[in-house]
Parts: sequence; C-alpha cells; structure tokens
Amino acid sequence: MFNFNKKILNASEKALEMCKNQFEIIGDIAAHNQQKVLRAFIDQKISDMHFNATTGYGYNDSGREALDRVFSQIFDTEDSCVRHNFVSGTHALNVALFGVLRSDDKILSLTGSPYNTMHKTISYLKEFNIDFVHIDFFNNNKLDYEKIKSYLKNSKENFKALYIQRSPGYSFRESLTINDIKKLVEIARIFYPKTIIIVDNCYGEFVQKLEPTSVGADLIVGSLIKNPGGGIARTGGYISGKKNLIEMCACRLTTPGTGKDVGATLGLNRELFMGVFNAPQVVGEALKTVVFAAALCELLGYETMPKYSEIRSDIVQTVKLGSPGLLIAFCQGLQSASPIDSFVMPEPWDMPGYDHQIIMAAGAFTQGSSIELSADAPLSEPYAVWLQGGINFNSAKIGILSAASKMFEIEHK
Ligand SMILES: *Cc1c(COP(=O)(O)O)cnc(C)c1O
Repeated sequence: MFNFNKKILNASEKALEMCKNQFEIIGDIAAHNQQKVLRAFIDQKISDMHFNATTGYGYNDSGREALDRVFSQIFDTEDSCVRHNFVSGTHALNVALFGVLRSDDKILSLTGSPYNTMHKTISYLKEFNIDFVHIDFFNNNKLDYEKIKSYLKNSKENFKALYIQRSPGYSFRESLTINDIKKLVEIARIFYPKTIIIVDNCYGEFVQKLEPTSVGADLIVGSLIKNPGGGIARTGGYISGKKNLIEMCACRLTTPGTGKDVGATLGLNRELFMGVFNAPQVVGEALKTVVFAAALCELLGYETMPKYSEIRSDIVQTVKLGSPGLLIAFCQGLQSASPIDSFVMPEPWDMPGYDHQIIMAAGAFTQGSSIELSADAPLSEPYAVWLQGGINFNSAKIGILSAASKMFEIEHK
C-alpha cells in the first residue's frame, strides 16, 4: 500500500471536503453528456458490424461513416471527420487550416499566439501566402471583448477565418468557457457574418454541457489521445462542423475526389466508438483529479489556476510551485505513482522548439496521452506545472498525493 505523510493525508481529507460542490457539478455534467452520447449511439443504430475492419482503400467502411455521424450528433454539427490517420491534434489543426484556407487568405486569432506546436504551421502557411494574424486581446488574462469589438469594427481586412483556442496551452490566461466562445461568435458575426470560425477544442470536449459548435462555431478540431478518445483510442483526431468545410478538410487529409470516402480503419473502429462512449465519464474523472489537485495545492500554500472552485472549460490545471527543485519533485512524485513506467525518473531535458528545458511526467498506456494523468513544465519562472488528465480518479489521486509528498520531503529536508 501507499504510506503518505500524515500532514499530506490530513490535507487530502480536507481537500476532498472542499471539492464536494465541484464534484457534484462535474457529476451532473458527465451525466448530461453521457445521455447525449448514448442518444447518438442509439439514434445512429450502432451495431457489431460497425466494428468490422476494412483494408486497402477502405471503401464503404460503414463503421467509419457511422462514427462520423455519432460525433456530428454529439457535437451538434452537420458532418465530421474522425480518423485514426490524424497523427495528433496539431495534425488535425493543420489539415483544417490548409483545408479551408487558400492563397492570399487571412485568418485572425482572437486568442493571441496559438499553441506552441502551431508556430511552425504559421510560417508554413506564409509560404502559401496565407497570413495568420494574432493579436493579444487579453487584459489581466481575461478576454477584452470591447477591444475585440473595436478591432473588428475598424479593421479593413477581409478575414476569411477567425481562430479561437479554447484552452490556454502554456500561458497563464483563462481558458474560454462555452459562454465566452458564444460571446466571441456573436461579436464576430456582427462584423464578419460569413467568416469561418475555427475553434481549437483540444482539452475542452465534454467539460461543459455544450461544445463550441453548439454556440455558432463552424469548425472544431481536437485530438483523440485527449478527451474524446476516452483514454481508449490509441491515436487519432477529429474535425467536426459545417458539411462543406468538412469536405474541404477531407480532401486535404486524403485527396480531392476521394475525400471522406476512403481510409481503411483496420479494425480500429471499435476502440474509437468505445473511447467516445466512455469520454464523458473519463473527462469527469480527469476533472475531479485536477480540482482535487488544485484544492490540495492551495492548502499546501501554492498558487493555483484555475482555483478549485472555479468553472472549468478544460481539463488542465496549473500550479505555481516557485522553484526548479519543487517542480522536479512534483513530476518525479507523480511519475512514481503511475501505473506504467513508475520506475522511470523524469529529468529536465532540452526539447526541440522550446527556449527552456522541459520536464514531463507521464506514466500512460498510450504514448503522450494527456487524458491520462500527466504533468509537464518548462524550467523557467514562475516554475509552474501544467497538470492534466486522470482516467481513474482513485488512482490519479494517489499520483497527486505522491507528487505532494515528494515536494513535502524537499521542503522539510
Ligand atoms: C494538445 C493541444 C494541441 C495539439 O497538440 P498535439 O500534441 O499535437 O495533439 C493543440 N492545441 C492545444 C490548446 C492543445 O492543448
């Protein structure tokens, strides 16, 4: 069994007490989203035959087509492209951008500079004379809607698309709630009624009762080794939204002329169905994990964002730990209580594309899966850790307690 320090265990009890209200809200959202998902499975008449494998071109893969319909129903969209062939969320985002944009188009990000892995995409878009414009509309880490309104009102640019990133990535701004996205869409439509609104929905699926496409976004994009894969999908991504846009994306993913009609699924359909079926529950476990971590870390005296009691719109938690030693201890403690690779000691390393050393803890069944309990951080001020996932709260809680214990040892050496 696990033997944690008495102080940590006491704090844990207290943290659980503090989380009661949030856990109830999380349970209510999971129950709502589970209904949505079950309804879609029933309405789309999912059956055993949809799990059959196709090979070669993968023509007439009824499972692939039914999975697209299930996602479309859940996400309130006309069409979807859910594929194991997307190698990551970044790949799906690339396909979406190159799918719908053409030379001389301009796209404006309403949420500033996008996620790190998208920076190369922006320069690649430039080579095709596609301009990805990003302006910082945040004020004290909150969106300044008036600033956006006046920018859009006075802008002479004919933006073909607007880009919204729901989760903050490695920055300290707030994640956008569905209500925030609704407001953005409403403002955007005043000045750009026809512009294509694309949302990077990574980490956001099933966290609230609605998705960005339920409040007017045209296209959402995400990864299947995050929320909608339910911890079961071993790879993949999705794009979901307006039918004509999905067709353009599918032509980019495969070829013009074949679009969505090809792509062998090799027997992977079953796990993609099972993943999305379990996703509302699994996202609930991940949310309970980060809310608990926020409460515990607050009790231990660390600054958390968001606070344990705040509304969530993604499954990510940041905690400012304040020193490299604590950061490393946190990650090592988390790793040592993971089901996979518990014996591995994470160390900071020079990851390509980053200015600082990065440390990562992940003891996951799927490589790089961040719906499973994982933590990562750049070794730079304010030495904050980004924590996400946890497909099983009882296990993930031990991971968090182990991380806290390891920090406690450092602080009381
Ligand atoms: C995870 C993530 C991505 C995509 O990352 P991949 O590692 O390529 O799947 C994009 N945007 C945000 C906000 C993310 O959290």
